[in-house]
Amino acid sequence: MIVMKFGGTSVEDAPAIERVAGIVRSRLAEDPVVLVSALARATDQLLAAGKAAAAGDRDRALELSEALRQRHLRTACELLPGTHFSKVQPALESNFKPLQELLTGVATLRELSPRSTDCLLSFGELLSSEIVSAVFVARGLAAERVDSRECLITDASHTKAAPLFDETRARLEGRVRPLVERHVIPVMGGFIGATLDGVTTTIGRGGSDYSASIMGAAMRAERIEIWTDVPGMMTTDPNLCPEARLIEEISFEEAAELASFGAKVLHPATLLPAIEKNIPVFVLNSRNPAGAGTCIRAHVPGNHHPVRAIAAKRHSTIVNVAGERGEIPRGFLREVLAVFDRHQCQVDIVASSQVRITLAVESDSAAPELLADLEHFAQVSCEPRQAIVSVVGENLRGRQGIAASVFGSVAAAGVNVRMISQGASEINISFVIHEDDVPAAVRSLHKDLFPKGEVASYGSPVDTSIEVTAHGSKI
Ligand code: ADP
Ligand code: ASP
Ligand code: MG
Repeated sequence: MIVMKFGGTSVEDAPAIERVAGIVRSRLAEDPVVLVSALARATDQLLAAGKAAAAGDRDRALELSEALRQRHLRTACELLPGTHFSKVQPALESNFKPLQELLTGVATLRELSPRSTDCLLSFGELLSSEIVSAVFVARGLAAERVDSRECLITDASHTKAAPLFDETRARLEGRVRPLVERHVIPVMGGFIGATLDGVTTTIGRGGSDYSASIMGAAMRAERIEIWTDVPGMMTTDPNLCPEARLIEEISFEEAAELASFGAKVLHPATLLPAIEKNIPVFVLNSRNPAGAGTCIRAHVPGNHHPVRAIAAKRHSTIVNVAGERGEIPRGFLREVLAVFDRHQCQVDIVASSQVRITLAVESDSAAPELLADLEHFAQVSCEPRQAIVSVVGENLRGRQGIAASVFGSVAAAGVNVRMISQGASEINISFVIHEDDVPAAVRSLHKDLFPKGEVASYGSPVDTSIEVTAHGSKI
């Protein structure tokens, strides 16, 4: 059994969904379990509708929901012959009445709570999984849609719920395993789950990758495939730096570090369940299914090149915390970290001196309540719009001269470095710069660390002419 997850761009419209059917057909012998994201941008549009409703603009909210309704019906209609369309149409329509009621309720209360947000955002994956499973059936694949809220059981931390692994495993064995044994393809929405009481939850934006690995690990899949819009995991974000190269193989440790430090191609938590059960994860391109993609696994042969990839994580804020009398008293660091911990704010980088502690955190988590708690015993100032750039590679800590190369390259790009972290991780050098400087810094680093013409032992230049394989026929 394998798990195949298709991201938003891989199901964005009728031709994309047609390709998905072809790709899944090519894996039938391996008993695929399929997870899909919402159609590209649908989650953002649902959120925009929720925000409009919360601001009291009910009409705008309903207009956005109507646009989503039209898009889903049009996509299904383009893909499905009459009889199949008339079967799926009521199923699609049945989602829009509760969606409109929810938006009307939010507009009346002028309040969009995390719990309502989860309910609202779940419609994206509920709808896409309905369409994709109907297309599979119409193309002669034995498939059945499964509501992932019956299987992915989580705690009640709405918008970032944590999976309850034992319960999830039991539900998958009860609901999904029997389908796999009958060679029927279960088709589920990623990202969404439910509490033990059946209240809808989501596991964080971009979380469909994580759903795939939770389910893959729970069902002991042979491998997990993440199908997306780029050739695989690359030496940096190809949208930031067109010279980025495909990484054919990478270790769990390095890939997890890249995902945590901004390589959006994988949700940061994706690799944890896979590492625990030692299941290889492949990142593949749904626009070029014949491409090799990236294999992420436990042991990857060493390479002569010190750097594997460069990642950038935007939306960071630097929080400066100084002692009230110009020095930091005993126990100050512990007290400061306790505040971040109490507010469940993850600290990405920390630096300290005699007079102050400086921390880089995700901007959304530097909440006013957290800052107010710090102000009870310290002087606090914030610098928003920062980004963390990370250079990741095997045993970077032991490579002489690597820091000089990294910071020389950043300096040559005319970029000022605000904070540095090296040595805490064996495989990562991270530093903080202004968000606007990210493209210049990353391009300069990529040029210097991955020189043109060099035959990297693990990387190959990207084929920029991404081939669109209609109906997956070339696989
Ligand atoms: P999906 O909708 O399939 O989940 P995402 O947009 O979440 O896709 O992730 C794919 C995107 O990740 C790519 O379009 C690319 O811009 C970005 N990305 C960032 N870092 C990397 C990297 N190192 N390798 C490949 N893609 C990356
Ligand atoms: N649709 C969700 C999002 O946009 C989950 C995902 O695509 O992984 O965040
Ligand atoms: Mg994603």
